Amino acid sequence: MDLSKIDPLTLQKAFPGMQDDEIHQMISIGILKEYPPQTTLCHEGQIEDVFYIIIDGKVQVSKHINESQLRLLKYLGNGDFFGEMGIIHEVPRGASVTTLVPTRVIEINKDDFKVFLEGHSSMSLAMVREVSRRLRENDEMAIDDLRQKAHELEEAYRQLADMEKARSRFLATIAHELRTPLTASNGFVQMIQSGQLSGEALDSALEIVSRNLQEIITLTNDILFLQEMELILPKFIPVDIGAIVVASVEKQRKNAVRNQVSLALNIAADLPTIHAAPRSLERAFTAILDNAIKFSPDGGEVTIDVKAGPDLMSVRIADQGIGITEDVLPHIFERFYHVDEDSQHLFRGVGLGLSIARHVIEQHQGAIEVTSTPGKGSVFTITLKRLSETP
Ligand code: ADP
Repeated sequence: MDLSKIDPLTLQKAFPGMQDDEIHQMISIGILKEYPPQTTLCHEGQIEDVFYIIIDGKVQVSKHINESQLRLLKYLGNGDFFGEMGIIHEVPRGASVTTLVPTRVIEINKDDFKVFLEGHSSMSLAMVREVSRRLRENDEMAIDDLRQKAHELEEAYRQLADMEKARSRFLATIAHELRTPLTASNGFVQMIQSGQLSGEALDSALEIVSRNLQEIITLTNDILFLQEMELILPKFIPVDIGAIVVASVEKQRKNAVRNQVSLALNIAADLPTIHAAPRSLERAFTAILDNAIKFSPDGGEVTIDVKAGPDLMSVRIADQGIGITEDVLPHIFERFYHVDEDSQHLFRGVGLGLSIARHVIEQHQGAIEVTSTPGKGSVFTITLKRLSETP
């Protein structure tokens, strides 16, 4: 091999304390080779018996930690060596080594290197020193990995415990929300069965039972919808947003009449088509409208405006209702957050509507914002990307 192409200092870095004549001898048993970037010199899992010393260049050492994950162990550069285990043991390569830049190496095959080592004890010692240093380095890396895994496990346990707590809180709330209308209905049904009610009293008892049943149906539907949303990604298709808003408004008409609230709908002309899940979006708008009506005073007006800007489309639902105080505002999108009553009203609902709405809008990569003045009213604005592709 042409020694003039190799800087002896590089080899001295690889094996400190090596004498000049030893360096020359070692070079004489090797072959100088140059590899382009992205060449794999050692292949993890394969039995190979070439030993490499990097003259100049850079390689990366990586190892599979499972079938799909590759872990980068380290980079090696000028004067570093690799592939020594293949010379010491008859074992498959423990990691892969790949060039990152054009890299020159001295390659020495196992048999030549063994003969060389037998005649040069200082060289053997230098190798043992380096190998044990690397083992220690690997140990430290393994301990770091373990520490990291322990931390991840701890975090996963904590999340599981939180989820378990949320699940049991969820069940308790549902049981409670079901028990109230069921117990009341049960009482009325018993009175009806025993013939205690007649005329107007009977009518009003039946009305209450029917309202309670409706509440239970709504709650069950909301829970099923929430669950479905978490399990199945809805189907996104091109839709006319105006038509969805109209459908939600129509669904709420009766409710508005019952509450003596008027609905004013303004839909801009030429709204573009967007990619959306229509059933989910309709549900979100319906929940917001339902609140707007519920929290409005008798004779109040709810306005619904649908507009399109250059990039975004917006649906704005404004009411003249009780408004939301600042301390409550940050919580209204939480599951089961529900303000029970103000001084005059007892508001029906269990606090799932807005959490469903937010979830749906997030699935559409849109935004939902609220501004409110207590005693004056609230404005909910939903913005969706105008040309949304399927998220
Ligand atoms: P629910 O209406 O069943 O209580 P939501 O999740 O729909 O549950 O709403 C949560 C809470 O947000 C309500 O209890 C209420 O306090 C507040 N809220 C929502 N919309 C309005 C609104 N338009 N005006 C006043 N308060 C509102």
